[in-house]
Parts: sequence; structure tokens; C-alpha cells
Amino acid sequence: MNILVANLGSTSFKYRLFRFAGEQPLAIAKGGFERVTDYGKAIDDCLTALRAEGHLASVADLHAVGFKTVLGGDVTGCVDADERVEAALLATADLAPAHNPPYAAGIRRFREKLPGVPLVALFETAFYQWIPDYVRRYAVPDAWHAAGVRRNGFHGASHKFVAERSAELLNRPDVADLTRALYQGGPRAVPGSELRVISCHLGGSSSVTAIRDGVAIGTSMGLSPQSGLPQNNRVGDLDSAAIPYIHRKLGLSLLEIERQLTRESGLLALSGVGNDLRDIRAAALAGNRHAEDAIDAFIHSIRHWIGAFWIELGGCDALVFTAGIGENQAYIREAVCAGLADLGLVLDCERNASAPSETDIASADSRTRVFVIPANEELVVARETHRYLLARAPSVCAA
Ligand code: ADP
Repeated sequence: MNILVANLGSTSFKYRLFRFAGEQPLAIAKGGFERVTDYGKAIDDCLTALRAEGHLASVADLHAVGFKTVLGGDVTGCVDADERVEAALLATADLAPAHNPPYAAGIRRFREKLPGVPLVALFETAFYQWIPDYVRRYAVPDAWHAAGVRRNGFHGASHKFVAERSAELLNRPDVADLTRALYQGGPRAVPGSELRVISCHLGGSSSVTAIRDGVAIGTSMGLSPQSGLPQNNRVGDLDSAAIPYIHRKLGLSLLEIERQLTRESGLLALSGVGNDLRDIRAAALAGNRHAEDAIDAFIHSIRHWIGAFWIELGGCDALVFTAGIGENQAYIREAVCAGLADLGLVLDCERNASAPSETDIASADSRTRVFVIPANEELVVARETHRYLLARAPSVCAA
């Protein structure tokens, strides 16, 4: 069975093709186009390339397409990418302006181009379907809550993969199996001791998630991806009073405030150097104080959320680092883990410094394991699409 995962940006179209033998996926091709103005043409070009490279004999060999959609309000989970999903993406486009419109347009074009091929949307919010109400609820009037002002959570594909993989690394295949089936069966009671994981997805966009027995119970992300940790160029958490205050004080319009918070804030604003942590680190090492402060603020915020979730979970069996920064920037991992011996977390600094791909970087006597787990969100979308079809349309999966 061949599943294409389509990654749609406002001007880009990237794809990966996975082949499933039973439940085992194999990534067999990838590609993409920049400066896309017409998704229909990009889809044609993608299918032509997959045929020319010999991965598909014909379009009939493509059995499903999966999409990592971001936010759909009340529509979440792993669902058919149908007109309802398109409408939900457009209705919440204000909160995810860079992602929702291209996904809505791209899904429509796929449906036109590939009638009859199952299209599946895995929402980034899906992993947070079961967070407690007291976590989801902001202290706002009922009408705001009813209008959708609530904690959604993001990076669900990445954090779910961490939940599955960390359970395996902790020798808890029972939890890994239940987590894999989460979107089909919902949470189920896990016999035996609780498994408590704190997952740090640190990249261009960053978040921390608390996971108990494979199910998310807390997230640093809120209503929109403009929340939580300082992001590359997005603000992260901010006192809501700042918005009316700065509107009056600096005479900025709501649109301009929104633009500055979503494009000119975060690590970019703090450092004054750029939005890539590699550049910020280079500037800090060269003595730039603002760059140093930006890194300190980022680390402080990561530790703030880890601390909150450590208490909420009543301990932590594994702390996990994933995504561009989490996987590649050892000094961030070291700073995040500093001084936690009393909590039972001790880093092996040598292993941390040399961490190659997936590895345990805690010292042998650390009660909490510390894992680096490479992110592979496309793989997660492909797996979830396959599981969804297996549950809903097993005949498609027999292909
Ligand atoms: P995105 O969140 O946009 O998908 P990434 O997960 O790749 O992107 O994260 C981008 C961030 O990760 C950048 O701030 C960059 O500094 C860092 N990063 C990515 N790759 C590397 C690398 N090989 N070495 C060091 N830092 C990296």
C-alpha cells in the first residue's frame, strides 16, 4: 500500500511516499517544489516525478494521501479530509494563517485530481483531545470559551511519536501499543506503574508536552501556535493586557500588533540577530549580550514548563528532546538539565555532547532517562493514515 504525505506551505509543496508492507512503513521517495502558485500543477508534477522515478506504475498505485493539518476548531483527531475539514480549516485560519489556507486549498485540489483516493487529515491538535477540562479552559467568559478561546495544543504528531518511541525505549511495549491505537480507541487504562514522559519539541516552533501512559495531559501551547515558549519569530506566552496597552501607548492597529507578534517577536526580537538558533548561538559566543539573553530566556521557558509538568505528573521517567534544536544543540540540552540531581535527573555530559541520532544521554545512575529522539512527523502522518484506513476501510489497506 502506498501512502503519500503532503506537506503544504503557503508557497511550498513537499511530499514523501511511504510503502506499507503490513503495518511496517518504508519511506521510498521524497521531493518538493518551492514558489508554488498552483497546487493542481504541483500535484501533477509530484505524481509525474513518482512515476518517472519508478515508484508508482500509475496513479492507481497511490492508495491514500495524508495531511498534517494544524487547527480545525472542534474538528480534530485523524479524520477524512473532506469538505467539513476544509471548512473547519478556513473558519480557524485567523489562528494559523500560514498553514490553514494552503491546506484547505491543497486538500481541495487533491480531491479534484484524485477522485476516489482516500484523503486523511491528522490534526496537530489531535494528541490533546483528552487533556483535562481544567487545562483546556482559560479563565474567560463562557461566550469566549464557546467561541473557541481554549487551549488546543500543537505539534501533536511529533509528541505522539515521542510517546510511542519513549515507551519502547523504557521497555513498556504495552504503553507503546496503546499509544499507537490512541486515535482509534481513545485512552485505555494501563495496568502496572504509570509512565510519565515530558517531551520537548524544540525547533523553529517549540513546545513542551506532558504525557501520562501515552496520553497528553498538558501542553505549553495554547489557543494558537503563537503561545508557550518563545518561538523563532512568534511571541510565545504574553500577558493579554499588553495588547490593549500597546495599542493605546504606541498607537498600533490590531493588524499591526498581530503582525509584530507573529513575525517580529520571539527569538528574533530577543536576540536582534535572527530567528535561527545557530545564528543566535554564534553571536552569543562572539559576545553579543542580546543573543545570550535570548538563549537564556529560551532555556528558562523550557525549564519552566518542565517544572510544571514534573509536578503535575508526580515525577518523570523520561525527558525527551526532539526536532531541530532538541536533536542538534547539545548545549541547550545540558542547560535545560542542569542542577536536577535532587530530582533524580543526571545527564551524561559526554554522551550528550556526542549524541548521534536516537540515544539515551542520562548517566547510568539517573532515575530519569533523557532521550534524544529524532522527529519524523511525515512518518507519523503516514502511520496514522494507515491505521485510520485499516480501522475504517480495511480493503484499501489490503492493496
Ligand atoms: P521547523 O520547526 O521549522 O520544522 P526545525 O525542527 O529544523 O524546523 O528547527 C529549526 C531550528 O533547529 C533552528 O533554530 C536551527 O537552529 C535548529 N537546527 C536545525 N538543524 C540543525 C543542525 N543540524 N544543527 C544545529 N541546529 C539545527
